[in-house]
Amino acid sequence: MGLNRKRSDYAAHSKKITRGQRWKALRLQALNRDEWACVQCGELRGLECDHILPVRDRPDLAYALSNLQILCGRCHARKTRLEVGHKPLPPKRQQWRELLREMSREPIEQS
Ligand SMILES: [Zn+2]
Repeated sequence: MGLNRKRSDYAAHSKKITRGQRWKALRLQALNRDEWACVQCGELRGLECDHILPVRDRPDLAYALSNLQILCGRCHARKTRLEVGHKPLPPKRQQWRELLREMSREPIEQS
């Protein structure tokens, strides 16, 4: 076993899972559920099965259908880049997020 600890990137983590037979069956289930289209943009070609919560963070959900979504190669690459790079959100998205947070606070305060 090569102990190459530098390769602790996301791809390496999910590769262990995406090699097996179990994954193949699960991927097919996810494809059927998401109707063979990218859930973000509706693209029908070049589809990939993505872990919503990365395997590195939640290895226990690696085979949970509810943690899978179908993405096209482009959307998948974008998501992975965000996860790995932790890029800050553009200001407009950040504002939106804060607004949502504020709105979701309201029901909690009533008691
Ligand atoms: Zn897409």
